[in-house]
Amino acid sequence: MIRSSVRDWVKKELSPIIEEYAQKAEFPSQLLKGLAEIGAFGPTIPVEYGGAGLDYTAYGIIMQELERGDSGIRSTASVQGSLVMYPIYAYGSEEQRKKYLPKLASGELMGCFGLTEPDHGSNPGGMTTNIKDAGDHYILNGAKMWISNSPFADIAVVWAKDEAGKIRGLIVERGMEGFTTPTTHNKWSLRASATGELVFDHVKVPKENLLPNVAV
Ligand SMILES: Cc1cc2nc3c(=O)[nH]c(=O)nc-3n(C[C@H](O)[C@H](O)[C@H](O)COP(=O)(O)OP(=O)(O)OC[C@H]3O[C@@H](n4cnc5c(N)ncnc54)[C@H](O)[C@@H]3O)c2cc1C
Repeated sequence: MIRSSVRDWVKKELSPIIEEYAQKAEFPSQLLKGLAEIGAFGPTIPVEYGGAGLDYTAYGIIMQELERGDSGIRSTASVQGSLVMYPIYAYGSEEQRKKYLPKLASGELMGCFGLTEPDHGSNPGGMTTNIKDAGDHYILNGAKMWISNSPFADIAVVWAKDEAGKIRGLIVERGMEGFTTPTTHNKWSLRASATGELVFDHVKVPKENLLPNVAV
């Protein structure tokens, strides 16, 4: 049932327009509402937080069907579910779960995930993006690149080293001073996916935006 409903949606909404958007190297943002309606954002997240509480087989089938239509559109959905909603669910506080997850599931908020850095792709342990404790907030500095959804994301789950050298996760919101998301142009693949950078220039991130339950 899940496979056929997603397949139908892909055939009706995605396949007819995707070649044009890939040629233009433009993300078809009009698909976001439909992706949320078919449950493509965080299907494994429990119902109380806006997800569908499905298992990973169902999640895989949903992604496989989206991938059949276009890899870039699957990227948007899997980043939202696996790389934004899952870390908030698994490592976030109850307040963070309630604040962000239902809106991410409904597509009211879109997220991105910032791990890769210009000089540290395959080796994220070498990351230089960092946070410094400044009382009631952290000061975040650094840059990420090749970040799916960054040009339009409302929030970013960002990984940065603290002063003890531990990698911590933070929820950074669009509009925070010093936070910009330049678009990456001229990709040869995933052309209908929006990809960009995340640049942090002395961004003040409130302490309540730190994911409390992870330090690597
Ligand atoms: C379209 C797109 C979307 C992306 N979206 C995201 C995202 O949303 N969030 C995010 O954080 N990242 C994202 N990435 C980044 C992606 O995870 C990285 O590109 C990946 O981790 C590889 O890093 P790199 O590109 O710096 O390549 P490099 O690490 O420079 O690797 C280059 C080549 O060298 C090889 N290599 C590297 N180290 C070794 C080694 N020790 N031994 C042998 N071979 C090695 C690699 O296999 C590869 O072939 C995205 C990338 C792309 C292209």
